[in-house]
Amino acid sequence: KTFEDCGFAPELMRAIAKQGYEKPTTIQCQALPIVLSGRDVIGIAKTGSGKTASFVIPMIVHIMDQPELQKEEGPIGVICAPTRELAHQIFLETKKFAKAYGIRASAVYGGMSKLDQFKELKAGCEIVIATPGRLIDMLKMKALTMMRATYLVLDEADRMFDLGFEPQIRSIVGQIRPDRQTLLFSATMPHKVEKLAREILSDPVRVTV
Ligand code: AMP
Repeated sequence: KTFEDCGFAPELMRAIAKQGYEKPTTIQCQALPIVLSGRDVIGIAKTGSGKTASFVIPMIVHIMDQPELQKEEGPIGVICAPTRELAHQIFLETKKFAKAYGIRASAVYGGMSKLDQFKELKAGCEIVIATPGRLIDMLKMKALTMMRATYLVLDEADRMFDLGFEPQIRSIVGQIRPDRQTLLFSATMPHKVEKLAREILSDPVRVTV
């Protein structure tokens, strides 16, 4: 399998080549076509597998495919991650592919000034990458609206549960329209995560590496 098989636009192929990604990793080979088809996915994969690009690259395609959304406000892609370190890593991976298209990404997590993050979100973005608690804070402050969010990723869902973020995740998911595409990535699938997946994903395809 190659990245060419995915039918990416030339700009995206250039961005992929620029990263030195010669061929898709195992998780990317399995997940990319399914995510690109618009299906919900449960990805059982660990950090180091290349899982981030398997949801970030299709997110860029998803955003570029929604010109009718461009006039509305708020992020189109919403990514939740358990820790600020992971949120920051996802932010860096996102920027590699978003830049060529002028797609704006904001990272929002604890330990940074709420006022600065409020201002950044108010200025507008197409993608928000956040830890659940801080995203709830920003929603309460009305720094952003979820009305145009149609692509939701829950990364390292098992760790988010371990850290007690289940109520925040449920609250965030509840604020995003039900006809969204939802992707859930987790290294393990304990019962509680499986239950959430059953509740918030529709007819998901399971990908395991
Ligand atoms: P991740 O598992 O998403 O944290 O990715 C692990 C590392 O692999 C990151 O440094 C990525 O930039 C890199 N990576 C992702 N996809 C590819 C690929 N197809 N070829 C080479 N490196 C990749």
